[in-house]
Formats: sequence, structure tokens, C-alpha cells
Amino acid sequence: MTIRSALRAEARRRDEADPLTKYAREYITDGAIHLNGNSLGPPRASLTGALDRVVSDQWAPRQVQGWFREGWLDLPRTIGDKLATLLGAAPGQVVVAGETTSTTLFNALIAACRLRPTRPVLLIEAESFPTDLYIAASVARLLDRELIVRSRDGFDAYLARHGARVAAALAAPVDFRTGARRDIGPTTARCQAAGALSVWDLSHAAGVLPVDLDAHQVDLAIGCGYKYLGGGPGAPAYLYVPARLQPLLDLPLTGWHGHARMFAMTAEFEPAPGIDRARTGTPPVLSLIALDHALDPLVEVGIEALHRRGRELGEFFLECLAERAPDLAGRLASPRDPDRRGGHLALRIPEAEPVEAALAAAGVHVDSRPPDLIRLAFAPLYVTHEQVWHAVDALDHAVKGAR
Ligand SMILES: *Cc1c(COP(=O)(O)O)cnc(C)c1O
Repeated sequence: MTIRSALRAEARRRDEADPLTKYAREYITDGAIHLNGNSLGPPRASLTGALDRVVSDQWAPRQVQGWFREGWLDLPRTIGDKLATLLGAAPGQVVVAGETTSTTLFNALIAACRLRPTRPVLLIEAESFPTDLYIAASVARLLDRELIVRSRDGFDAYLARHGARVAAALAAPVDFRTGARRDIGPTTARCQAAGALSVWDLSHAAGVLPVDLDAHQVDLAIGCGYKYLGGGPGAPAYLYVPARLQPLLDLPLTGWHGHARMFAMTAEFEPAPGIDRARTGTPPVLSLIALDHALDPLVEVGIEALHRRGRELGEFFLECLAERAPDLAGRLASPRDPDRRGGHLALRIPEAEPVEAALAAAGVHVDSRPPDLIRLAFAPLYVTHEQVWHAVDALDHAVKGAR
């Protein structure tokens, strides 16, 4: 048996031995291999039926009464509670208001700064996702604070040295380029010791990595619904506010759905008690239904098992790569230690864009980030070991073809 076929047999053995493999059949993949679940994953086949039921059995017969009689009005909170189980948060602390990640971050950062009115600095990691850098810069301008941008170690060093100047510090548990992890616990503890608010962007971690928000006593967290959570293109974002901060939080986006008595229609804003104060206006129900539907299998499996499976798939990818294309294995831009990574890996390949296109033509979806990164994500429920084996084959071909 060649190494190639031995690896394939091993892939099949691992898939057969893992009860999570059966979930892959639930997703519409049309024979393609989706290694871009950190960007947008495939839908579950039952989504069309779920949406059709809302349109045909709820919206059409009930019309506006659907808000009250079908639970639409509560979706931001009921979906938030479902999502909370994946984030290590007790109920009543996560809301899906129907905003984008960017507006949710804006809301969170301003509220964080308002809790520390006399502190001059807003601290952010240099490796942050672009929108995080842009929003943080805008918030700093708006509130007349100084934006301090520091890369990985410099961020911690700044907190240690000048923490008393920091109102809020924004970081991500997974670097969106390399997949490198930043541990939530120690950085949050550093913020706490300095009296600064810790704000986490979980977009690249939720659904694939335990984040244990309550256990780490995180102050605020946000993230998007369309990456590993699978809520579909443009799925709404979520906001975590721990119970201890809810009564104090003065959010800048004060829509009528966040009012203590929404239907009293008063002229003065009075924030709702609890997480409901973080709601804004009428939420996008169809998008919320799609996100709710996507969360079901993730919640059923649980974050520990999701993490275990994603990690095994990533390790199998690297094992296959080391055997089949050792030169490519040497181009890993991510930490080799799986404990130091999130759900994706990045390879430095100078021909990243044509390689991405060649892979897509071969039915393997990855993504490239300029100038030379190929990112491959190992979403736990719709990627199999056998697909990973295929992907390594296709990647080897694509890189050779691009040279
Ligand atoms: C994907 C991502 C975003 C995206 O923001 P949108 O408003 O949803 O476009 C923001 N932050 C991080 C860390 C991300 O990974």
C-alpha cells in the first residue's frame, strides 16, 4: 500500500470511529469540500423547510400578530440563550439584536469607555480584524480618547505598564490571519488588575473553541453569526454582557426595543432591565430564524466535542501534508501546537490567489488573504477526515500547477 492510500484508509477509519461524522450529511455541500467555514459555511438541508414554515405557517396567516404569537419578539434573547451555551455564559447575558458585527462592536466599545470616563486610552491589538481597528479609531475620536495599537506582546506589556490609563482593551482569542490563540483568561485578568474593561471579539472562535466567558469574568464580548456558527450570509452579530455589568451599562444605540416598556412609547429612553437593554430596533426575523436553525446541531454536540473534532481534523491535515507535500508543511504560518491555534490554519504560499482559484475549480473551498496566505478552516460538523485527505491532494496539485 502506498503512503497515499494508507492515509486514505486512516482517514476512513477515523471518520467511522467518530460519531460526529454523521452530521456532515445534514449540510448541503454538493460534493464540494468547505474549508472556509471561518468565512461562510454551507447551510443545513433542513433550512429551506424551516424558513418556509416561518413564511407559510407564521408570517402569512398571523401577519403582525406573529411578533407576539410566534415568539418573534423574543428571538434576540432566546437565540442569545442558545448561543450562550457555546460561549460558556449563563442565560440572560447574550443578545442577538440584529446588528452587524461592526455596529455591535461600536455599541460595546462606547459603553465600555463610558464606564471609565476619566481614563484616556482605548487599547487594541495591532493584528485585529480591519473593522475592529476602524471602529476603535472612530470611537476614540468620538470620545476624545487616545487609540493605542500594540501587537501581541506589546499589548500585554502596555496593560502591565500603563493599565491605569486604559479605559477598555479590545483583543481577539484567535488571530483571523494565522489562527494563533490569545488566551482569554490571562489577558482578562490583566485588564481586571488594571481596572480596565476587557472587550473580546469572538468572531473567529465561537463555535469551534471554548471561550468560557463567565469563568474568565470577561467584561464584554461580541462576535458575528456567520462564521463557524453557520447563520448564513450576513447573519446578525451577538453581544455578551455579564449580569454584574448590565445595570451599569450605558449603550449608545438606544432603540425602542431596548426600552424598559417598549410599547409605552414614551419620549424618554429608560433602559430595560437585564440584557434586553442591548436590543436596538425591530430585528431581522428571517435572518434570526436561519441563525437559530444553524445553532441546533452545534448546541446538541457541545463546544468541547466541537473543539475536539476541529482540532483532530486540523492535525490530520498537517499529518497528511507532512507525508505528501513536506515543502508545503514547512510553510505553516500558524502555531504547530494545536493548543495554540483556533479552528483554522494558514500557509504562506506566494501564489495564494491562483491556488485558491485552482482549488475552487477542483471543488475545495479555501480562502486567501493578501499577500500570501491560504487559510483552511476545519469546521467540526461538515468536514470529514476523508475530505481533508482529498484537500491535501488537491492543494499539492494546485501549488505545483501554479508554479
Ligand atoms: C469576520 C469578522 C468581523 C466582521 O464584521 P462584519 O461587521 O460582520 O462584517 C469582525 N471582526 C472579526 C474579528 C471578524 O473575524
